[in-house]
Amino acid sequence: MASLGQPAFRAKQLEDWVFRRPATSFSQMTNLPAALRQKLQDSFNLESLTPIKEAASRDGDARKVLFRLHDGKSIESVLLSYDDRLSVCVSTQVGCAIGCPFCATGQQAFERNLSVAEIADQVLYFARRLSEGQNLTNVVFMGMGEPLANYDATLQAVGVLNSERGFGLGARHMTISTSGLAPQIVRLGKEPLQVGLAVSLHAAEDSLRDELAPINKRYPLKELISACKQYMAAGGRRITFEYTLFDGVNDSLAQARQLAHLLKGLGALVNVIPANPGGSPKFKAPSPEKVAAFMAELERLAVRATLRARRGADIVAGCGQLRSREIASARRS
Ligand code: SF4
Repeated sequence: MASLGQPAFRAKQLEDWVFRRPATSFSQMTNLPAALRQKLQDSFNLESLTPIKEAASRDGDARKVLFRLHDGKSIESVLLSYDDRLSVCVSTQVGCAIGCPFCATGQQAFERNLSVAEIADQVLYFARRLSEGQNLTNVVFMGMGEPLANYDATLQAVGVLNSERGFGLGARHMTISTSGLAPQIVRLGKEPLQVGLAVSLHAAEDSLRDELAPINKRYPLKELISACKQYMAAGGRRITFEYTLFDGVNDSLAQARQLAHLLKGLGALVNVIPANPGGSPKFKAPSPEKVAAFMAELERLAVRATLRARRGADIVAGCGQLRSREIASARRS
């Protein structure tokens, strides 16, 4: 505002429009002078993302948007409704270098990191389009990409979303997911922001985890668990471990016992998630009976575990699936 010759209070007015009011264009910012609105319109983009495809699940609980970025690349984000929460799942990279074999994004080449604006704008896009009386309650960094491989931009986006002058969402309402970048987990533990951490485990022994989360070859379980302990010791924070269940791959009772043994003493919560449909046939969800048996074994071994419902399965809610279809149809045409 200073560079535009404007008084400082205009910056506050603009912040208010950008982060807290549902303006989708500068022309809607009616408390700014018309000449200033025009100047802003000529020099800036209010939104860095262009929606190119939208899909809503049949039950209406999940809404996924495929966005085009300024350089023609695309990413996905999902709005998820629960009884008491409205959560946005955001991407942090275009493609992903980790290459988990069950994940559609992992099959796409890594292209680039997202900027702070591109990450935060995914949240603001949905926030600006909510119905009257609705509010976003949570942000999860669990979309395309490995958030801790784009550490600085992800943490800055958390800062913008958390700041009172920004979006004003409590850090405890945000969760960063990682496939297991041990050094960055230790670094995150030293950050002043109390953001949640979810570690995607999927296997409790190295040879299987080497396959399911290939980052394990670089940071095997011993190193990962040690990093998690340091993270928790640094700030007294809890970690959620994500365990996606694949039929005949990691769903046996012996594997439930391995998981209980690995997490012993951590006081961690395990989110068990039956695999999303639409991925590789090698990675299908187990039958409900097998899922129930796995959960019962964890309970018997006193592991705190919750079974997470699959949401938006009919709109290809698995990370990167909508983008994969878009890439495939672009190649065909
Ligand atoms: S699951 Fe996450 S870390 Fe693994 S390939 Fe997909 S986006 Fe990357």
